[in-house]
Order: sequence, then structure tokens, then C-alpha cells
Amino acid sequence: MNNRPHPLVAGNWKMNGLRSSLGELGAMAQAYDSALRAKVDLLICPPATLVHAASIAAAGSGIGVGAQDCHAHVSGAHTGDLSAEMFADAGASAIIVGHSERRADHGESDAAVRAKALAAVRAGLVAIVCVGETEAQRRGGQTLGVVGNQLDGSIPTELTSAQLVVAYEPVWAIGTGLTPTAADVAEVHAFIRERLAFLLGADGAGVRILYGGSVKPSNAAELMAVPNVDGALVGGASLKAVDFMGIAAAYR
Ligand code: PEP
Repeated sequence: MNNRPHPLVAGNWKMNGLRSSLGELGAMAQAYDSALRAKVDLLICPPATLVHAASIAAAGSGIGVGAQDCHAHVSGAHTGDLSAEMFADAGASAIIVGHSERRADHGESDAAVRAKALAAVRAGLVAIVCVGETEAQRRGGQTLGVVGNQLDGSIPTELTSAQLVVAYEPVWAIGTGLTPTAADVAEVHAFIRERLAFLLGADGAGVRILYGGSVKPSNAAELMAVPNVDGALVGGASLKAVDFMGIAAAYR
């Protein structure tokens, strides 16, 4: 238990939030007291338009600010894209890559996700690599095979545990209110832990593995207590300070 990585609760605001939403971040900062800081790291990933303002709003609070995606290149003729270096310059400390919505909506392959993870680390940021099976894949008994292939294809093996976070997010649990059983989460997280040891060697033990998919204050304590669950990636419930801090309170 004592050897568990320091937990992280990360919020993914997706395509939600205007400047007026930064009040929620301010409320989170207020509630993030020193006792909680000692127990869990917090990160908010707002839309790209708010990364810089959020990093200013969160300054001194201990809450990190991250981005939701990046281009693999440093700069160049890529209209509408943003590089990891730009997010670092805007004050980000991490970037989510390979979220299932990016994999589905933008056809991102494991190789593309791997290149983005490397880009995040190149810019000095933490790469949060998302994996997870669809409902059909789970029903077909393919969960571990799918997750294993995503890990093999998306995780750069040269990364260290300080540079990498893995988020297990069953696609069917995202935004649906459905969650796997604690036993199902335990099975997949143990499998990810083993695969990380295979891919990264001894450093695999220190990588934080987050669970994501319909985490809310009422189920956070049970999910966060599952072995090899080192925190949460939270979508909808990260938009409101009261919900997000209710989830973080699982670590009090
Ligand atoms: C997510 O999209 O990363 C997510 C976990 O969403 P939600 O918490 O809303 O299910």
C-alpha cells in the first residue's frame, strides 16, 4: 500500500468552458487545503482557449493545468493545430493524448497517440495516455486484448514513471453513468500494471494508472480503493468544483 504511486485526480473539461468558468477553478483552489494536497495531486485540463488563463488562475494553489491533445510536431504548417511546446509556454504541465473521443472522432491510431505522447515529453510535460475498450469489445471478451494492443502501440518505452500517466477509460462508461464493477476495474488495472512492467521495466511500478468513466463523488471512494487505481480521470464531474472536490475527497 505504501509503495503505491502518489494519486492524481485529473479533470477533462472537453469542449466546455468559457472564461467565466474559471470561477470553478478558483473554488477548487480554495478547497484544496494543505491536508488534501499532501494526499492527492489535482490537474484540470480545460479547452485550449483557457489553458493560459487557467494556469494563472491556479497559480500557487497546487492545482496543475493540462491540455487535452496536441500535434506531434513542434511547429509548422498545421492550420488549427497546437504543439506541446505551445501548451508548455501557456503554463500546462501535462497533456491528455489518445482520449477515446479523439481516437473515434479524429481516427487517431496508436502510432499517432504514441507520437503525441513523445511530443508532450519532448516539451517537458507529462503524457496522460488513454486506453479502453468499447462496449462491443467488452461483450466479446476482448477487453484485455484491446487494452494490451493500445498500450503496446501508444506507450513510448523510453518514458519514465515521472513522464507518463495511463488512464483506463472503458468507452462505454464515459458520460453514460455506467461503471465497471470494482472487480472488473481491478482485473484491467492489474493487467495494465503488468504490461507497464513489461514495457518500461522496473519503472512501470511507479506509473500512475487512473480510472476514468462516470466517476462521481458517490462512487469515487469505492473505485479509488481498487488495487492499482492511482486516481481518476474525470469528465462531466470535473466541471463543477463541488463535484470535482467531492471526488478528490476520496483521498482525505
Ligand atoms: C472522460 O471523458 O475522460 C470521462 C471520464 O468522462 P466522464 O467522467 O464524463 O464519464
